[in-house]
Amino acid sequence: MTEEINDAAPLDAVVIGAGFAGLYMLYRLREQGFSVHGFEQGDGVGGTWYWNRYPGARCDSEIMYYSYSFLPDLEQEWPLKERYPGQPEILRYLEHVADRLDLRKDFTFGAKVTAIEYDEATGRWTVRTEQGQTATARYVVTAVGCLSTANRPDFAGADSFQGVSLHTGRWPHEPVDFTGKRVGIIGTGASGIQAIPVIAEQAGHLTVFQRTAQFTIPAENKPLDQHFVAMWKQNYREWRRRTRQSAGGAPVSRSTVSALEVPEDKRRAIYEGAWGAGGFTFTFGTFGDLLVDEQANKTAADFVRSKIDEIVSDPEVADMLKPTAFPFGTKRLPLDTNYYETFNRPNVDLVDLRRTPLEEITPTGIRTSGGQYDLDMIVYATGFDALTGPLQALGIRGKRGRSLAEAWAEGPRTYLGLAVPGFPNLFTITGPGSPSVLSNMPVSIEQHVEWIGDCLAWLRDRALGGIEATESATVAWTEHVQEVANLTLYPKAASWYMGANIPGKPRLFLPYIGGLDNYGRKCDEVAGNGYEGFELSSAHAVAS
Ligand code: NAP
Repeated sequence: MTEEINDAAPLDAVVIGAGFAGLYMLYRLREQGFSVHGFEQGDGVGGTWYWNRYPGARCDSEIMYYSYSFLPDLEQEWPLKERYPGQPEILRYLEHVADRLDLRKDFTFGAKVTAIEYDEATGRWTVRTEQGQTATARYVVTAVGCLSTANRPDFAGADSFQGVSLHTGRWPHEPVDFTGKRVGIIGTGASGIQAIPVIAEQAGHLTVFQRTAQFTIPAENKPLDQHFVAMWKQNYREWRRRTRQSAGGAPVSRSTVSALEVPEDKRRAIYEGAWGAGGFTFTFGTFGDLLVDEQANKTAADFVRSKIDEIVSDPEVADMLKPTAFPFGTKRLPLDTNYYETFNRPNVDLVDLRRTPLEEITPTGIRTSGGQYDLDMIVYATGFDALTGPLQALGIRGKRGRSLAEAWAEGPRTYLGLAVPGFPNLFTITGPGSPSVLSNMPVSIEQHVEWIGDCLAWLRDRALGGIEATESATVAWTEHVQEVANLTLYPKAASWYMGANIPGKPRLFLPYIGGLDNYGRKCDEVAGNGYEGFELSSAHAVAS
C-alpha cells in the first residue's frame, strides 16, 4: 500500500537517515522554516550507533568532542563519565536529542529508501521506500553515514551454516549470549579488534580468522576525572571553536617534528609515552611525518611490532599478529582494550587466512585449507562498502534517468563531497570527497549540515530553486582529492579508504585528506562567492 507523506504541495526537503547527521539536518531545516520530512531504515534514531551494538562497541573519539556543538545547554548537562563513550551511551545521547528537540514526529522509521528519482519537468525529487511510502520534495539531503552498508563477503556455503551468524554492523537488539559457545570471528579491523577481547571473556572458545594483521594502539579508556570535566565544561565554547578549526575535528596538538630527526632512544621514549597515553596521540602527537615518509613510518611500525612481541607470549602467534602488508596507520588505526593480550588466553586461537585460506563455510563451522573448525556461532566483522555503498543503495536517479551507480562507474565524482553533477538539489552529508571518516564525524557533520542549511536559505532569499554542481568544478575537486591523497602513504594500503575491500569497486581514495580546517575554508569561500562551482536556476525556471 502506498502512503503519501505530502499529499498537497511538495515538501521543501526530504532527509534520509536519523543518525548524527539526519537529526541535525532535519532540525536545522525545520528551524529555518522549511517543510521537511525524514526517512530512517531503522526502527529508531542513532544511525551507526543503532546498528553497531556488538560487544565492545565504543567510539574512538573522546567523549568531550563526540557530541553536537549546537546544543550548549545540553553540553553542560550531559554527564561525561568515560574517556571514550560506549555504544549504549551514544545511542542514549542521540535518543535524548531526538526527544528534546521533538524530532521523531517528523521522521518515518522502519522506512528503507529504495528509489529517489528526479523529474526534470517539475524540478522535484520523488522518494520511495520499500514499505510503500512516497514523498516529493525540491531538495533531498542524504544523511546515510559512510559505514552503514555491511560488507558480507561471498563465502561459499555461508547460508548452510546451522549455527548463529552475526554481522557486527547489523547486530541484533536482544542480548547475544556467548557463554560456553564455540565462536568464530572473521575480520580484525576496528570492529573485530573491539569485539574479540569482550567475546573471548564470555565464550567457551574463540577462533579468530585473520586475513590481514592490523596495527592497533591501546585506547586507555578510563573514567574521567570530574575536575577535568568541570574545567572542560567551563571552556566548552573555546574547545568547540578549536575543534572546528582543527584538521581532524579534535582539539589535539599535532607534532611537526620528523621521526627521523631524533635519536633512537628518544624516539622510542616518545612512542612509549604515546602508547601509554592511548589514542590517536600515537599517530599525530608523536611525529609529523609518519603518514608521509616511509622511513619515518617504519619507525612507528617497528615500535608496534616490538610491543606485540612484548605482550604476546607465544612467538608464533606474535608473528602472525604483526602487520607487514601496509604502512602503519594507512588503514584506519583501531584503538583497543586488551587486544593483543587476548591472544594469551587459553580459550583463544588465531588462524592466519593468508597461510591457510578460508575455503568454505560448512553447516558446522569454517573450513580452511588447514582443516575444519567446528563452531556454534560465526561473527562477521568484515566491514562495510564504505562511503559509496550507502548512497548507491538508495536507488538515486538524476537527470535523464541516469543512476548514481552509472555516474560513479569509475569511482565517485563529487563537488566537495556534497553534490554531484546531473543530480540537482541533492546534497550528500559526509559524501565521498569530503573529510568525513578522516575526521571526528560530528564535527564534519555539523559543518556540512550548516553549509547546506545556509545554502538553501540563500537560494530561498533570492527566489532561486535549483542548484547543481558544474562538471568542471567536480572534475577539479575530484582530481584534487586524489592529488592530496597521493602526497601521503595512504594509497599504499589495500584499505576501505581505497575501495579495496569490495571486489570490483574502483580504486580511488574516497575521503578528502586535506584537513577539515582547509576544507571548511574552501566551503566558506564557495558560498561567499555566490556558490561558485554550482549552476543556479530560478524556482520558475526549474518548475517550467
Ligand atoms: P574493516 O576495517 O573493513 O575490517 C574488516 C575486516 O574483515 C578486515 O580484517 C578484513 O581483512 C576482513 N575481511 C573482509 N573481507 C574478508 C574476506 N573475504 N575474508 C577474510 N577476511 C575478510 O571493518 P570494521 O572493522 O567494521 O571497521 C570499519 C570502520 O568502521 C573502521 O575502520 C572505523 O572507521 C569504523 N569503526 C570505528 C569504530 C570506533 O570508532 N571505535 C569501531 C568500529 C568500526 P583485510 O584487512 O584483509 O581486508
